[in-house]
Amino acid sequence: MVRMREADKYRKLSFWHDTVPGSLEPGDPLPGDLDADVAIAGAGYTGMWTAYYLSQADPGLKIVVCEREIAGFGASGRNGGWCSALFPASLGKLERMAGADAATAMYRAMQATVDEVGRVAAAEGIDCHFAKGGTVEFARSEVQLERAAEDVAEARSFGFGEEDLRLMSAVEAGELAGATGVLGATFTPHCAAIHPARLARGLAGVLRARGVSLFERTPVTEIGPGRLVTPTGTVRARYVIRATEGYTALFPGQRRSIAPVYSLMIATAPLPEAAWAQIGLTSRPTFGDLRHLIIYGQRTADGRLAFGGRGAPYHLGSAVRPSFDRVPAVFTALRRTLADLFPVLGDVEVTHGWGGPIGVPRDWCASVGLDRATGLGWAGGYVGDGVSTTNLAGRTLADLITGTDSELTRLPWVGHRSPQWEPEPLRWLGVNAGLQTMAWADRHEARTGRPSRAARVVGRFLGA
Ligand SMILES: Cc1cc2nc3c(=O)[nH]c(=O)nc-3n(C[C@H](O)[C@H](O)[C@H](O)COP(=O)(O)OP(=O)(O)OC[C@H]3O[C@@H](n4cnc5c(N)ncnc54)[C@H](O)[C@@H]3O)c2cc1C
Repeated sequence: MVRMREADKYRKLSFWHDTVPGSLEPGDPLPGDLDADVAIAGAGYTGMWTAYYLSQADPGLKIVVCEREIAGFGASGRNGGWCSALFPASLGKLERMAGADAATAMYRAMQATVDEVGRVAAAEGIDCHFAKGGTVEFARSEVQLERAAEDVAEARSFGFGEEDLRLMSAVEAGELAGATGVLGATFTPHCAAIHPARLARGLAGVLRARGVSLFERTPVTEIGPGRLVTPTGTVRARYVIRATEGYTALFPGQRRSIAPVYSLMIATAPLPEAAWAQIGLTSRPTFGDLRHLIIYGQRTADGRLAFGGRGAPYHLGSAVRPSFDRVPAVFTALRRTLADLFPVLGDVEVTHGWGGPIGVPRDWCASVGLDRATGLGWAGGYVGDGVSTTNLAGRTLADLITGTDSELTRLPWVGHRSPQWEPEPLRWLGVNAGLQTMAWADRHEARTGRPSRAARVVGRFLGA
């Protein structure tokens, strides 16, 4: 009876959890001490892709994954479902870090990763509603149109062509989606819309079938060289991987490594055909616009709009609590923005509202790595671009652990160490001032028609 209620609790986490097939009843916790080759903390995409590729590379490896709640509890089960080639650090930033060729290689690897996720989902029979319709980013003001041109110019300067990112006229964008006020758009084919919880839960099933030990309701209290400690036992392993992203700051000594910043979403009721006739998005391209405070949406396979954005506050001390997942003012703002984009949605019923923490490193550059001396590995800091990046991280960690020198292990994010965030209350002030400035900059640009210098300055301060 009690366990039934737990599954119900997980159903309420998001629209995706509510509609994922199969039981959300937690599996068994770690029953006691264990020896393994690889121990992983966290069963989000990072932990599960790592286990997936490791078990493929060497089926003899004993792999243990410990998850505090259920597989796919975190951002991996709740996200916007953009399986994209976006990487949180820009090409220019990666060039400054590691040179132009390395920057290009990183972005090419991300493009290939979108297809890799689709390939594995198909091969493993995971029906995650994968639809590779690309991404359209609307320019709904002259300033946004300039930003669109800048984005395309940057891509060209690194050798990416029309087939990677291109400008669309207002007419062409209108054929894809009937959003209001569109002056033009950028379009990239390198993105698929997915049902995130179907991917997460599907991966968990595949891992179990392969013999990976995936323990749920097993909080890791300590990660150290050769061991992963939980209340019900210790896993001793040569390699120990931290895959806890937005929850990382909850570990002792990790408070300043990755800031949990909340992203929130809403989902509408299924829309009638007449509404879809106006909205379009027939090939299910993911969509947003070129404002500063990010918005993102997708047409779901069951005919709803799932739509999200930033703007929820960062909480003092990198706190993460279930109550932070729901901010009525942000849901109202998302609803208003959605109706502004697609007025036909003005009165539509919103059936779900939810959110979760994304992991933001101080320099906004995701990283993956393994310290061979201690056996400790990590991947994360994806900001809000982890759906595909986690797959690249999993393949890379598998190569690092098995000692395979590959193209992946030479990518510039491998071994990158982000600086620590400032101590509190500076971190709280900086992150929230950044979020406020982005919202203010959007209002300023809408009012004056001029680009906001403040957004650039704050973006530079935050390392974005
Ligand atoms: C609302 C929202 C929308 C998003 N939209 C997109 C999008 O459209 N596209 C995109 O690319 N990215 C998006 N993201 C980001 C993306 O979902 C994440 O980057 C990605 O899922 C990170 O995967 P992960 O496995 O590293 O972390 P998570 O999925 O957060 O997994 C970490 C796991 O670790 C577990 N854990 C934490 N602490 C412990 C502990 N002490 N012991 C054991 N287990 C622990 C957690 O319960 C969790 O299951 C979004 C995120 C959110 C919240």
